[in-house]
Amino acid sequence: MLYYCIFERMNSADIATVKSLLEQPQQIVIVPHKNPDGDAIGSCLGLANFLIKIGQKATVVSPNDYPKFLKWIPGNERILNFERENTQAKKAIREATLIFTLDFNQLSRTGQMESYLTEAEADFIMIDHHQQPDTYAKVTYSDVSMSSTCEMVYNFIEAYGGSSKINAEIATCLYTGIMTDTGSFKYRSTTSQTHRVIAELIDKGADNMLIHQQIYDTNSPSRLHLLGAALNNLVILKAYHTAYITLSQEELDKHQFSKGDTEGFVNYGLTLEGIVFAVIFIENKEEGIIKISFRSTGDFSVNEFARKHFNGGGHTNAAGGRSDISLSETTKHFEQLLPEYENQLTS
Ligand code: 5GP
Ligand code: MN
Repeated sequence: MLYYCIFERMNSADIATVKSLLEQPQQIVIVPHKNPDGDAIGSCLGLANFLIKIGQKATVVSPNDYPKFLKWIPGNERILNFERENTQAKKAIREATLIFTLDFNQLSRTGQMESYLTEAEADFIMIDHHQQPDTYAKVTYSDVSMSSTCEMVYNFIEAYGGSSKINAEIATCLYTGIMTDTGSFKYRSTTSQTHRVIAELIDKGADNMLIHQQIYDTNSPSRLHLLGAALNNLVILKAYHTAYITLSQEELDKHQFSKGDTEGFVNYGLTLEGIVFAVIFIENKEEGIIKISFRSTGDFSVNEFARKHFNGGGHTNAAGGRSDISLSETTKHFEQLLPEYENQLTS
């Protein structure tokens, strides 16, 4: 595969490569990371809706299922689930002439799909805001300062000269991902430019109040009880300004866990005064792993921490990872790592 350009801002020379590709009719597949979140689904559908509007054929192939609270996003019916619609999904990847990978930076983030993507004949375009991107794409639009991949897709459309094509559906998709990835516009990555983009998207028809309700006000009683169980398990390690939560498979089963139910739980640790590092460990018996989410405030890089110790990565203040040992062994190992970081965590 040829590696043409890696750029941080969409500039006219780089966009020319994309334009020449999109001048031809393409079979386009758009791929989010495994366990896609609001930014991943929002950016994929925002881009898919845009590409279809300019006359291309575009399908989204998700590595696996995603939470119910994302299934109303415009174009949702266009998403193929690689696990559920495996034959169709493999065919789409095989026949694709152009593949966009959105909101992730290593093909391994697509799980089982990785080998099919590696074998695909298509040219790749990456749009992503995670640190340390791999170089598999013909065009890599990578900017770690960006609030979200959705904000980057907005920039991409603008640089392409397609702003006038942004309708209410596209605006809704992009608004959703910016909102979820910025914690409703409050994380450090939220800039005045993010707010300008958001203002534009509202003008184009994104119904901000409705979007917020559809994402955040759809709790089930069992999810609130699961939150209760999680908070009950909170461990505070004051000396390291750290707090963590665990959820065992048994607890998940007891509260009829369904995908997405634990979204946001990790953030509760950070609301404690003086806590700068918050973690949630979630047992997944089926996959035989502990899925871990890391969050921090300030300079402590959870991306580095997750990469070094838990086979993961992400951003400075939000990252994920996994462990293959038991839940109790994992938290024990985690606690043993903290002294090494005492200075960083207490400075
Ligand atoms: P979350 O904790 O919400 O699953 O993920 C937080 C951030 O870290 C997201 O930007 C997500 O894409 C990234 N992330 C989550 N899990 C992993 C992982 O296993 N590897 C890498 N490289 N990034 C991850
Ligand atoms: Mn994102």
